[in-house]
Formats: sequence, structure tokens, C-alpha cells
Amino acid sequence: MAILTGQQFLDRLQQQPPTLYIDGQRVTDPTTHPATRNMAQSLAGLYDLQHQPDLRDTLSFEEDGERYAMSFFVPRSKDDLARIGRAHHLRANYSLGFLGRAPDYMNANVMAAGLGAAYFGACEASGEGKRDFAANMRNYYDFVRRNDLCLTHALTNPQVNRAKQASEMPDPYIALGVVEEREDGVVVRGARMMATLPIADEILVFPSTVLKENADKSRYAMGFALPTNAPGLSFQCREPFDIGRDPEDHPLGSRFDEQDAFVIFDDVLVPWERIFLLYDTELANKAYAGTDAVLHMAYQVVNLKIAKTEALLGVAQGIVNAIGSGQFQHVQEKVSEFILTLEIMKALEVAARDGAALNAYGVMTPARGPLDAARNYYPAVYARLTELIQLLGASGIIMMPSKADREGPLGPQIAKYLQAGNASAEERLKLFRLAWDMTMSSFGGRQNLYEKFFFGDPVRMRSALYDVYDKAPYVERIHSFLNRSETPEAVAADD
Ligand SMILES: Cc1cc2nc3c(=O)[nH]c(=O)nc-3n(C[C@H](O)[C@H](O)[C@H](O)COP(=O)(O)OP(=O)(O)OC[C@H]3O[C@@H](n4cnc5c(N)ncnc54)[C@H](O)[C@@H]3O)c2cc1C
Repeated sequence: MAILTGQQFLDRLQQQPPTLYIDGQRVTDPTTHPATRNMAQSLAGLYDLQHQPDLRDTLSFEEDGERYAMSFFVPRSKDDLARIGRAHHLRANYSLGFLGRAPDYMNANVMAAGLGAAYFGACEASGEGKRDFAANMRNYYDFVRRNDLCLTHALTNPQVNRAKQASEMPDPYIALGVVEEREDGVVVRGARMMATLPIADEILVFPSTVLKENADKSRYAMGFALPTNAPGLSFQCREPFDIGRDPEDHPLGSRFDEQDAFVIFDDVLVPWERIFLLYDTELANKAYAGTDAVLHMAYQVVNLKIAKTEALLGVAQGIVNAIGSGQFQHVQEKVSEFILTLEIMKALEVAARDGAALNAYGVMTPARGPLDAARNYYPAVYARLTELIQLLGASGIIMMPSKADREGPLGPQIAKYLQAGNASAEERLKLFRLAWDMTMSSFGGRQNLYEKFFFGDPVRMRSALYDVYDKAPYVERIHSFLNRSETPEAVAADD
């Protein structure tokens, strides 16, 4: 099938809708339901982009006479990585970087896991035929890219009691676990806390919580994929942020509410050929690092965050231009903070590519250090960027009559009193509404939380960085400085 059109994506979603629940009701058709139809259209728009004649070669590649989305491309050189990065950035621009889980993210995951499939073959439970987990992973990558699927994923256990292990909860199947093995697969029961973009074709389930090794806990060690309409599987969505307002009033929320859902597995059968990992806590704990999937996903993320920061900078300077505040030094300083963040992220992207190397599976893999820096740095700085937008926009970000107001009886007064020094009232209000939706609306508030947690708990991420980062050479340098003799010859010898 190769690269999908938007219409093909919508048709598939309509024919095989995920089992979504919103406000106590089943969403029978996500392409027409008021809370999901605009997001479905936005995803369709992303699929259509890859057919646009001027973008086709950037957003897709050809292999054996077939075209595939660029996010499935296997990089073998640094130039290949740059090509993939350009596609990530271009696709991120489509939503100004406010679509966190566009399909590219999971495509990068299945590409790396598919190429690193041998990792899953080492699982003790892996065997012949449908139980060959390495073959299952390879086939799954091929299946996803051939059908240009849209994936969601869910990694973490329900937030019931973080002081206890999954097996110590009031019910051992609150956290997702294996109930039984059958001839045709395994039955799983329990829940996962969060799957962004449940308006998807398939769900990928992997572990992220570190599992302690013992027989009791191995039931929680698993990796598999299923269609989002698999029997027994349901997605409880959060309150929608697309509330049917005109895109001029809610420029982001009305288009890019990717949704987040709680995922319930009510004795769901996972066929053997969809299982990539089972019972092996050690392999489960390292699945993302062991295949380098985490780095390819982080590379998508750094490109996405560059696009997002560019958009935030554009809005910040747009506000300054509109209301003529650029003369004030503190305003210049505030805009400079966006520039610094942008340039740091761009530099980290370049450094990740520059330090890339072929991994054990022959995949050109971006360097870990700069990507770890990016995914720890951005969550920390994002809240400041939203604060800066508020500080620059002040009351303008709240005094924003709607499109209907502009067209209503007070329209002439709104046009007069809410004009800006360098923009009409209409231009100014559209811009300020975008600033508000980026940072203050329910959509913007969720973005703030998302940026803090989407790659994991920032506290534990820092701790992981502390663990993996090789600090010894720097300590050694200090030791040798403290112990070095002061003669010029000895200093030269130390260097
Ligand atoms: C908007 C949004 C979208 C998301 N999308 C997805 C998605 O698509 N797929 C997905 O799998 N996940 C997703 N996540 C989940 C994300 O991975 C988690 O939020 C993150 O890993 C933290 O886990 P938690 O939310 O369960 O927090 P908890 O683990 O419950 O943490 C709560 C608090 O307790 C502290 N804490 C808990 N345990 C420890 C510990 N062991 N050591 C130190 N401190 C601890 C934390 O630091 C934090 O302050 C999303 C999250 C958000 C907010």
C-alpha cells in the first residue's frame, strides 16, 4: 500500500475505529464525532503532505519501487539522518510543533526496534514459528511501514500507589499483566495509564517502569502490538479540548487535540505473532536502550521541539511587533530567551548527527549525549517560554473578543479599540488567540504538562542521565591538576 493519502487514512479509521469512550459514550466514528473529527482531519492533512509534489521527496522515500514515509527510513549515514531530520522538522511545522505524537514518533520507534529485532530473539520465551520474537518484531516494522499505520503507545502503570510494586496492588491485575498462555497467544488483563493519540490504528505496548527480577513480577514484562479495536481493549479519553470553536478562536485546540487516554485491557488476547517480548524482566527494562529506539525517537523529538520553539519565537516577536514594545530592553531580553533556547536545541540536533555512529544493527544512530541533554533541557525550559509569552502579551492575551464578537454589533468598536500599533484588530486578535492557545487555554495548559512528562518523569530522567554519563575523565583531570608539578615542563607533560 505504501504512503497513504488523507482520505485513505480517514476511510480506515472509519472502517476500523478504535474503541474510544468520551464523556461516558462510545465514539462509533472518530471521523465525525465532534471531539475527534478535527484531529482526524489534521492527521489526514499530515498524510496528504507526503503526496504534495514539492514535499514528496522530502517526506517519503522509494524502495523496491514502493514509496514509504520518511520516518520509516533506515539511516545508514549521517546524511541519511539529516534527511530524516528535515522530514521530522517539516512535518512538525504543520502543527507548529504542538502535535506531540504525530505518527513519526512511533515510526521511529518501530524502525529502530525492527532493525534491532535480534534483541528480542534473546528473550527466553522466544522460540520457533509465531513465537520467534525477533521475526515478529521485524515483520511488525514491515507491516507498519507498508500500511503507513498510525500508532499510539502506552508504557506506564496506573497511578495507584507509587510506594508499591505492581504485584503489591490491591489486585495484581491493576497493572497490565499476563493472565494465561493459550495456543493462539497470551491473554492480558489490567490497564496502562496514558496513551496519547488514541485515534490510531494500532497500539504498541512496552514496559518503561523498571521491573525487579523475580518470577512473580515477570508477568508484567511484555512487549506487543494490537489493533486499537482489538476485543476487550478500550480507551477512556480525557475531557476534549476541541470544544467546537472556530479555528480563529481556538487555532490549536480546534485542530490538534491529539487526546490522551487511559487504556483498559479486559482479558485481551494478544496473538503470538504480535508478541515481541515476554516474561524477561531484564530485556523488558532495557528494550528502548537495547535497540537504540530511544535515540531515534529522541531525534524526532529534538526536531519537533526546534519547530515548536521557532513557532513560540514567531509569536513572541509577533506580539512585540504588534504592540510596539520592542524598544524596551527587558522585552528584547525576553525575546532573546527564545532565541537562546532555539539555538541550543539546533546545536544539540547538529551535535547528535555529528556524533552519530553505526549501531550493532548497522543503523546510523544519533549520539546519546546531545539527545539526553535536549530531552532533559527542554522540559525544564518550556514552562519559562510559556511564562515569557504571558509576560510579553499581558492583558492582550485575555482581552480577546471572539470571531463572532468581531462580526457582532460591537464589531466597529472592537476594530477601533483593539487594533494594534502595527496590526488591525483582526490580525492582532488572531495572533493573541494563538498565543493564548499555546500557553493558557486548556489545550495550552495540557501542553505545559505534556512537555514536563512526555519522555518520562524529569526527576528519574535526570537520575538516569547521572547514571549513564561518563564523568570519570573530568574527575581524573581535576585529580591530575591538583597533583601536577608546577614546572613548565611537567605542565606540558601533563597535557
Ligand atoms: C500529557 C501527557 C501525555 C503522555 N503521553 C504518554 C503516551 O503517549 N504514552 C505513554 O506511555 N506515556 C505517556 N505519558 C506518561 C508519561 O510517560 C508519565 O507521565 C511519566 O513517565 C511519569 O509517570 P507518571 O505520570 O505515572 O508519574 P508518577 O510516576 O506517578 O509520578 C508522580 C510523582 O511522584 C514522583 N515519583 C514517583 N515515583 C518515583 C520514583 N520511583 N522516584 C522518584 N520520584 C518518583 C514523580 O517524580 C512525580 O513527582 C504522558 C504524560 C502526560 C502528562
